[in-house]
Amino acid sequence: MKAWSARPVPDLPGEAPLPAVQDTRLRRRAELPRQERASLYVCGITPYDATHMGHAATYVAFDVLHRAWLDAGTPVDYVQNVTDVDDPLLERAEATGVDWRELAAEQTELFRTDMSALNVLPPQHYVGATEVVDRIVPAVEDLIARGLAYRVPGTGGEPDGDVYFDVEAAGAPAAEDGWALGDVSHLAPERMLALFAERGGDPDRPGKRHRLDPMLWRVHRPGEPAWDGASLGAGRPGWHIECSLIALQHLPAPFTVQGGGSDLVFPHHEMGAGHSWALTGRPMAEHFLHTGMVGLDGEKMSKSRGNLVLVSRLRAQGVDPAVIRTAILAHRYSEDWFWTDLVLAGAVARVDTWRRALGAAPEGSAAPLLEAVRTALADDLDTPAALAALDDWAARALTGPAQPSAADAGLVRDLVEARLGVVL
Ligand SMILES: [Zn+2]
Repeated sequence: MKAWSARPVPDLPGEAPLPAVQDTRLRRRAELPRQERASLYVCGITPYDATHMGHAATYVAFDVLHRAWLDAGTPVDYVQNVTDVDDPLLERAEATGVDWRELAAEQTELFRTDMSALNVLPPQHYVGATEVVDRIVPAVEDLIARGLAYRVPGTGGEPDGDVYFDVEAAGAPAAEDGWALGDVSHLAPERMLALFAERGGDPDRPGKRHRLDPMLWRVHRPGEPAWDGASLGAGRPGWHIECSLIALQHLPAPFTVQGGGSDLVFPHHEMGAGHSWALTGRPMAEHFLHTGMVGLDGEKMSKSRGNLVLVSRLRAQGVDPAVIRTAILAHRYSEDWFWTDLVLAGAVARVDTWRRALGAAPEGSAAPLLEAVRTALADDLDTPAALAALDDWAARALTGPAQPSAADAGLVRDLVEARLGVVL
């Protein structure tokens, strides 16, 4: 499907270092490798609700990584999916009496509009799960043929034939670079079980070999959409397999960075890595990066609590997207944080100060600021430090006696846009 558009990235003088990043799977800081091209896969939305601040923070964080690569002279192959058929989407469509395809199309369009407004660079490949069903079917057939997946008989009103991934058979703890359950998430079994149940898994389904085996293919139920599944029978794919297949279609194996919110570490990224390993004998990604969760005023943000902060609503209220981005970038991407009125007010004041300072940019001040911003972002994308450097520069510009320099103002405007995506 079509992605969205963003502003062209201004060229900056010199070359930035590649950032070191906090890798969830390796459980340590890792230097990103020097590559001719970097490859990035960020898990996309399930389009049943408009973009809330948690989504926005995730895509802005990976946009800062994308921009870091570009400033280091490395082009990026970027892929994002849309989970455009899944239980939450179908449940929401049913509850509101809207056709699920219409709901998905409408919410995906709203997401695109939000991303474009936030100046998030688009992926080259923006792919819906429904667009790769014809690739998923033979992959699942292959896993069954190799004993790494199995059909479960129908019990308790469920039909025959749902296909599950066998986490134990597929695991290869002894192989170099091999995947085994826990390789990405490093969670204790009880924690895995709790999260699996909370996030779409069915640990108590009778007939499964292992309670944590995830579904690969859900055979058709009346009233649910279904695709031709060849020998699997009509049905629809499970959640994790779509990302493995989309990544394998468009990116190298392994690709450089798998990204997403920290709520995707388990089971989604764990199982996706397992599927990719089982299909190819290669790791899914070299690095796994995760963004923190965003709450509201000290509480978890969720649809059920009715406290979602929506990007589209802020925009409708007249909040400048540069302010929304600045509010997000005031926090470390990997940490949980809360949206509050104070966070918004702080970002409004900052953007206003930076814009006023551009008119008084001291001669020779832009190059050291560029250096400071590059240094901050090389340190695991430390955006709060980059913003602090910009604050210092602005304070000096607004109080100093120096002659304003148009060239310095231009470079500052360019570096803020190129590295932070904030348009001043
Ligand atoms: Zn995914």
